Amino acid sequence: MTSIKKNLPDEQATIELGYELSLWVSAPLVIYLTGDLGAGKTTLSRGLIQSLGHKGNVKSPTYTLVEPYELKGMDIFHFDLYRLLDPEELEFMGIRDYFTEKSLSLIEWPDRGHGLLPDADISIHLGYQGEQRQVELNGLTPAGQQVVAKLK
Ligand code: ADP
Ligand code: MG
Repeated sequence: MTSIKKNLPDEQATIELGYELSLWVSAPLVIYLTGDLGAGKTTLSRGLIQSLGHKGNVKSPTYTLVEPYELKGMDIFHFDLYRLLDPEELEFMGIRDYFTEKSLSLIEWPDRGHGLLPDADISIHLGYQGEQRQVELNGLTPAGQQVVAKLK
């Protein structure tokens, strides 16, 4: 496992981490994002998705569960499973079809989809540190480790 920890003193630092990731990610890749509400999971996703070329807003797909983007030849799926009541909902939306060779998946609250999601290549945990945040990134597969090893 390749693992790094960083302090993120402000929102801009979280967005910049998304930018750093954007330089190294390639499909297929599955990223789990964990941490309490407000820890910065969506902020980091926004930094990554906008750095990959998305011009508009990145809103949290809290009600729709998933927001798709097509960027850099990849199918990017930003999931937020916070409001998922029953993992069966994921079956109904055809969850398996999302994870292809072309897809880069960012999954907030992956625990809610337990048993129906592919394993993560990278897990990212964000935690509060006073007003600031701390992040830990773990590369869990060779593909994930390659990305994490590139980060400073
Ligand atoms: P989550 O998706 O984890 O619930 P959000 O990204 O929606 O969290 O919200 C995070 C909040 O914390 C936002 O208000 C954002 O401005 C702020 N924030 C993000 N990163 C940092 C940071 N490194 N330090 C302080 N505040 C941050
Ligand atoms: Mg969120």
